[in-house]
Order: sequence, then structure tokens, then C-alpha cells
Amino acid sequence: MMVKKFRDTLTGLWSLLVGLKVTAVNFVRPEVTVHYPRQTVPSLEGYRGHIELVPSQDDPFKSKCIVCMTCVRMCPTSCISVAGSKPKKKTAGKDQAADADSGDTPKAQKAKPELESFVVDFTYCSLCGLCVQNCPTGALRFSTDVYLAGFSRQDFVFDLLGRLQSQAEHKEQ
Ligand code: SF4
Ligand code: SF4
Repeated sequence: MMVKKFRDTLTGLWSLLVGLKVTAVNFVRPEVTVHYPRQTVPSLEGYRGHIELVPSQDDPFKSKCIVCMTCVRMCPTSCISVAGSKPKKKTAGKDQAADADSGDTPKAQKAKPELESFVVDFTYCSLCGLCVQNCPTGALRFSTDVYLAGFSRQDFVFDLLGRLQSQAEHKEQ
């Protein structure tokens, strides 16, 4: 009886010492987390946030998207909706004048469709990356938007074209 009590006490003490050692080691270890929201991490390089549109090099208010719909077809959860204007047939000024002189019908040029809306429902996105990898123009990338919060599902349905344009506006100011 005495021996059992003594053994239990020793086991308890040993377990206490092991616990204290773990606490002491972690106490002196450098911090790897931050006290959010009082602090935020300095670099989010490599972080995979929701997708976002990459601005065109010529015009930061426009995206590189050519409305090919590859991302819409590839997305396994169908959370991307894209809409674009129908390509209108343009006629080139010089050719038109020349054609008019010669009496020919003006030559039609193929115009690119313009992106009108790009919406992603982030509540369904699995961050698989298929849309980013398969976009033929590199118009998509992952954002570093880590501090997301909302009150309803609708708060996570992102208008990416509007977001791109407001980012361009902020940069201009
Ligand atoms: S984002 Fe890329 S894949 Fe998606 S519609 Fe635009 S060009 Fe096509
Ligand atoms: S990362 Fe994957 S799930 Fe998310 S929008 Fe792109 S294709 Fe869809």
C-alpha cells in the first residue's frame, strides 16, 4: 500500500517536471505567431488568399483577362462567374477609306471582347489553383488578403473587376 502511494507520487512529480520542461523550452523559443489584431505579419509572400485579377500593363484599370472562359470551365466548384461584352466588328480607318475609294465593302477586323464582370464566390473556392494555372494570359493570381472577416456568406462573394479598379484608383491618389 505504502509502496504504491510512493510510486504514484514519484510518477506525478515526474510528469510535473516533464510539463515544466516543455513550458520552459517554449518560453524562451522565438515567437512564430503574432498577437492579431494588435499585430500583423510583415510579409505574406507565398500566402494563397482568394484569387484576384492581374492588371493590364497598359491600363491599370483593366485586367489581362480576354474572357476566354477557361477558368469558368476548369473550376471544380463552379464558383467563378465571368461576363464580357460581345466582340464588335471594327473597321480600320485607312482600310475603310481605301475600300470606300475603290468601291469595295470595308474589311472587318476582329475585336477582343471586353471584361465586364468577374465574380468569385470564395465560400466555394478550395484554392486548388486550377484557374490560376490554366489562364492563358496570366490574368489571375492569388491575393495576399489574409485578414478577411464578414457577417454573412455574401461578404465573401468578391467582385474582382471592381476590386482591381478601386486598387488602381487608390494607387493614383
Ligand atoms: S481570367 Fe484567364 S482563364 Fe479566366 S476568362 Fe479571363 S483570360 Fe480566360
Ligand atoms: S482556386 Fe480552384 S476552386 Fe478556387 S476559383 Fe480557382 S479553380 Fe475554382
